[in-house]
Amino acid sequence: MSTHNTKAFGADVATAPLKEMNIQRRETTPNDVEIEILYCGICHSDLHSVHNDWGGTTYPVVPGHEIVGKVTKVGDEVTKFKVGDLAGVGCIVDSCRECDHCHNGDEQFCDNGWTVVFNSVDKKHGGITYGGFSESIVVDENYVVRVPETLDLPSAAPILCAGITVYSPLKHWNAGPGKNIGIIGIGGLGHMAIKIAKAMGAFITIFTTSQAKADDAKRLGADNVVVSTDAEQMKNCPKQDMILDTVSTKHDINTYIDLLKVDGSLVIVGLPAQPLEIGAFNVVHGRKSFSGSNIGGIAETQEVLDFCAQHNITADIELINMNQINNAFERLEKGDVKYRFVIDMASLKN
Ligand code: NAP
Ligand code: ZN
Repeated sequence: MSTHNTKAFGADVATAPLKEMNIQRRETTPNDVEIEILYCGICHSDLHSVHNDWGGTTYPVVPGHEIVGKVTKVGDEVTKFKVGDLAGVGCIVDSCRECDHCHNGDEQFCDNGWTVVFNSVDKKHGGITYGGFSESIVVDENYVVRVPETLDLPSAAPILCAGITVYSPLKHWNAGPGKNIGIIGIGGLGHMAIKIAKAMGAFITIFTTSQAKADDAKRLGADNVVVSTDAEQMKNCPKQDMILDTVSTKHDINTYIDLLKVDGSLVIVGLPAQPLEIGAFNVVHGRKSFSGSNIGGIAETQEVLDFCAQHNITADIELINMNQINNAFERLEKGDVKYRFVIDMASLKN
């Protein structure tokens, strides 16, 4: 298969800083679009992967899965995009397209294994996939979404992962008027969850470990703010229908399960590497559920982009240059970001 050199930023090993490198991208096949990457968000999953927190990282790794850009080339059979269109790519770049889940638009649950945008074996084209910390990417048109023209592009990038990852469970668990929805953590995912749940009409309680973020949470749309390290505030918190847990490290989930109503659900989207303990008594009393959710399918990713355009929702971002990436990773590790870093990819080309 013919390929071309593409500039990217990645890591050779878990312990070294990210650095500029050259990767090979395939030439567009008949169903592919080539996208010049304009902006790429930085998700905590990028950090987990580079550090090999979950095991299974293949080096060199080029992270990045909140991609917005412009179509620069289309294959002969492409029907959905033309050169010049705005385009978005999230986590999923391929799946079997035959199983029930693919047919239902849940490609992230593909029975035969979906292809992740980076650090994934590319079953169709061979090799390992490389993500959005790069000047361009080539993706099958069926896994590319449209970015509404009205959205501010850099702050729309995080919708491609943070947005869909919280939208999907909020919708699935019927967040809306009359529902008490709790959100744990005001990071990239958490701050998008506040904005999206607010637009759905829910009453939102945010749980944060940071007093500084607590002071900002109402501006983001929270109705009620709880500093989770304050036992008194936790005790006085109203009971929740659903709590969405976005925390990236090991933490005690039982204290949150105790805040659920009867039949309430704690839904985890955060991916701490270590297992979490659940007390049987905590779930048995009140018939409570502990559940999880994984990003969302392609059609639903388009849906959340359109939802955000309709409700004027984008992420609160800090726009950085590619060469600031290692500092951004250090700050993200400490939860020191308001609330998503996004890379201006023009800085990679210079
Ligand atoms: P992030 O921006 O770093 O936000 C995580 C937040 O968790 C922090 O800002 C912090 O909020 C809170 N937190 C951190 N340590 C904590 C602790 N020890 N106890 C309580 N709260 C703590 O990360 P993100 O990009 O939003 O990603 C969050 C997690 O979701 C990561 O594990 C990521 O891999 C995962 N993820 C999963 C999916 C999926 O499909 N399931 C998709 C994307 C990301 P406060 O400062 O407010 O306490
Ligand atoms: Zn992500």
